[in-house]
Amino acid sequence: MKPDRPDHPAPSDADARRAVPPVLVYRPETLPAPGLDQIRKARGMAEKVADLLVPPREARAFEVPAGSFFRISSVEGPQVGDLNLWNAHDISERFFSGKTRALHGTHVSTGDRLWSCLPFLRPLATITDDTLDWYGIDADGGAVHDVIGTRCDPYTHCLLTGGTYHHCCHSNLTRALADHLRLPLREAEWHVHDVLNVFMCTGFTRDTGQYFMKASPVRPGDYIEFFAEIDLVGALSACPGGDCSTGHSSDEAACYPLLVEVFTPPEGALKDWASPPANGYDRSHGR
Ligand SMILES: [Zn+2]
Repeated sequence: MKPDRPDHPAPSDADARRAVPPVLVYRPETLPAPGLDQIRKARGMAEKVADLLVPPREARAFEVPAGSFFRISSVEGPQVGDLNLWNAHDISERFFSGKTRALHGTHVSTGDRLWSCLPFLRPLATITDDTLDWYGIDADGGAVHDVIGTRCDPYTHCLLTGGTYHHCCHSNLTRALADHLRLPLREAEWHVHDVLNVFMCTGFTRDTGQYFMKASPVRPGDYIEFFAEIDLVGALSACPGGDCSTGHSSDEAACYPLLVEVFTPPEGALKDWASPPANGYDRSHGR
């Protein structure tokens, strides 16, 4: 938050300094193209191979082989989900929300990709369909599916309220990963990371730049769908904030399950596609 009264006076050319035009840091056309046409064609031939229901205020983990698709759907009522992704063969490679935000923007939709952390930096998944793509950016500056937020967690809750709450997304994801990989809870916790906030509607206030949330526009039947670029382990938490219209980190909000479905196309449907290799930088760092 910026102080109402700055300590330092503005220089005489302050307006001119502010008026310089912004330059996009990363131009989308410089990124490797996802080959969406072929991928979506394969999706048309794919069949459902697995599904699971994530209960409210809980998380569940799932696996998606490279070349398959996973869909997250709203069922029963408006609900926000917190998504983590890992390389199924090496969970030190995980989703990098900060770089995804830098490359694609604060909110993601069809054609955007979810990138992995350094030193891997490759697409883990590509978004192939999003029934909320009509929402755009609203008058408050809000949009859906953000890579701004981190995940609700019991440490921030304790810091702000002194209270203990065990069903924040961070704890839900920790339990789900620990159960799925049979890891001790404290080991699994290190692998939980900043999320893609599926269906969540967020932005920054224009006057103070503060992070805000508002009721998600998601309704039962809405979904977002992803193409797995490498073999993935995913974990999805049905946030205790429900539609995130009021708060989170408590049992007060109305919460609903989220459905995860996995679809696999037939052999040969992706003949011109190859799973992306890890990043080409040699890691010598100038030495
Ligand atoms: Zn949450």
